Amino acid sequence: MFWNEKEECMPPAEKEKLQLERLQEVVKKVYENVPFYRKRLDDAGVKPEDIKTLKDIEKLPLTTKDDLRAAYPYGMFAVSPKKIVELHTSSGTTGKPTVSGYTKNDIEIWSEIMARGLTIFGLSEDDILQNTHGYGLFTGGFGVHYGAQKIGATVIPISTGQSKRQIEILQDFGTNVLIFTPSYGLYLSEIAQEEGVDMDNLKLKSIGFGSEMWTNGMRKEIEKRFGVPAFNIYGLTEIMGPGIALECEEQDGLHIMDDHFYPEIIDSETLQTLPKDEKGELVLTNLTREGMPLLRFRTKDVTALRKTECPCGRTLVKMDRITGRTDDMLKVKGVAVFPSQIEKALLKIDGLEPHYQIIVTRPQHLDELEVQVEASPSLFSDEVKELVGIKKKIEDQIQNEIGIRVNVTLVEPKTLPRSEGKAVRVIDKRKFDD
Ligand code: ZN
Repeated sequence: MFWNEKEECMPPAEKEKLQLERLQEVVKKVYENVPFYRKRLDDAGVKPEDIKTLKDIEKLPLTTKDDLRAAYPYGMFAVSPKKIVELHTSSGTTGKPTVSGYTKNDIEIWSEIMARGLTIFGLSEDDILQNTHGYGLFTGGFGVHYGAQKIGATVIPISTGQSKRQIEILQDFGTNVLIFTPSYGLYLSEIAQEEGVDMDNLKLKSIGFGSEMWTNGMRKEIEKRFGVPAFNIYGLTEIMGPGIALECEEQDGLHIMDDHFYPEIIDSETLQTLPKDEKGELVLTNLTREGMPLLRFRTKDVTALRKTECPCGRTLVKMDRITGRTDDMLKVKGVAVFPSQIEKALLKIDGLEPHYQIIVTRPQHLDELEVQVEASPSLFSDEVKELVGIKKKIEDQIQNEIGIRVNVTLVEPKTLPRSEGKAVRVIDKRKFDD
């Protein structure tokens, strides 16, 4: 099923032509309307008319989150304030939030890309979608909402929280598609279990999840618990919101809506563009946005683009599932560690719950990494000898994955904090200023 087959399956040559036209237009537009970009381009000695091929995008300067912070609140807008109809911000957990502005047409594009994705998940105008993403300055809630309404589906804008009520509604309203973050989904499944809900009797047909890093093991766990397929949604507020890339029925990589967002992969140290299939930092350029088009925005998300065609027929370029962020990479004993690697190791072992926390400390000037993970109730009632054995097994498995030894602590079921939004996986207690 396609929402917009013509655009989703556009022949590659036609797509490239369209991308180039749009790129030339957007560079001209920001050069003329955004003083920040005019200065950046002038400093780099690039004029809009120097963009003659798609490869010429590499001549353009990169945009970072710090640039957006420096432009706070409206410095990156390319249109007059009266044309902006909606504002969102990033979470602002690390410094000033960044502001994202949308014109009417931007909201239309956002709805279009999410409608493409939700159609893949099986949502039609006959269906009901329960949206547990937060509505507010966070883009998650509204992006999904707009896409579902564009399709003509019924939206239940319940937002995050009221978890028992969520389960009640899931049953009583006959929800067909459920949207959540993976960690909140796990939490909801626990509530459903406590309430004795028979998952096979629900009208649920699929799950869409995003805004958090996850592993395939985590996906399988969620699919098992809810008994339906779960699809990945990728997005970021700076560029637009959820829907920038979405998984198709193959569940193998995400299609980037590359008629609206031009992707590149760079080496985050040298800032050089890498060949498409090499792993590096994803950089995105808004090709069609009016309110706040960004050129070559550094997402800090680590992935690779795929060269191969997808059996689903879409020609939208594919990227690998995000496996880490350049900024949530932990350096422990000089080794780069991503939380997703630890999750992958944990999910290989039976008897563990997919709830864990990584704690990094530095007693005596040496890094130590502790992984706290919940044991299943049956495992926890086993003898101490068993627990010691399993602890060692987990430590071996993690060492296999990341290359260094960690301490594993098995904790009782349901003792680690549950999250209703993004899960806090890493607690770094090291002090770097001494
Ligand atoms: Zn596909």
